[in-house]
Amino acid sequence: MEILRIAFEGDKVQITLRMSEPFNTRDKPHLARGLFRMLPRLKKHRCYNEGNLSFQREAASTEIAHLLEHLVLELQAVTLCGRGIRGVTYWNWREEPTGQFHIDIDAPHPGVALGAVWLAQRIIRAIDERHPETIDIETELRTLRAIAKLPVDAIPALPVEDFPRWEATWAQQVAELVARSKEQALVTSH
Ligand SMILES: [Zn+2]
Repeated sequence: MEILRIAFEGDKVQITLRMSEPFNTRDKPHLARGLFRMLPRLKKHRCYNEGNLSFQREAASTEIAHLLEHLVLELQAVTLCGRGIRGVTYWNWREEPTGQFHIDIDAPHPGVALGAVWLAQRIIRAIDERHPETIDIETELRTLRAIAKLPVDAIPALPVEDFPRWEATWAQQVAELVARSKEQALVTSH
């Protein structure tokens, strides 16, 4: 899975990605299983699909990109508790290369949205490579919550055009912003 672009449009984040085959979770049954084990709340997601299946059943046979969508939704929802977040996954392989997908998701806090996309693709990769233990989900969620406490404009809603380059500096950028905001909190609290 290769993220080609992340952009913000209105109050949504738009992710463009390219997948290599297989595209469907049917051919990688350990993916959905591993995800539900790591984040059990995902099973309860509502999903409007053709068969009107629960997401738990839908996840056994759907596009891996659709799984990523629900994962980004879930990571934002647990971080920004109480907010209803919606998303949609679509593709048009008549006009775009086969394997290219688009995911549009509500993004009330751009920094949290970016953090959720970054974490979601790492989770999918770790489970796909059968190393889910390399993700310490509690620590990762704590970081997302720390981002949520930053001002909404602390991490600007700028498009990410070069994902590998952006990814190389993201964790460092977040660590510095969170450390700085903690220092300020110490200075201003009496
Ligand atoms: Zn869905």
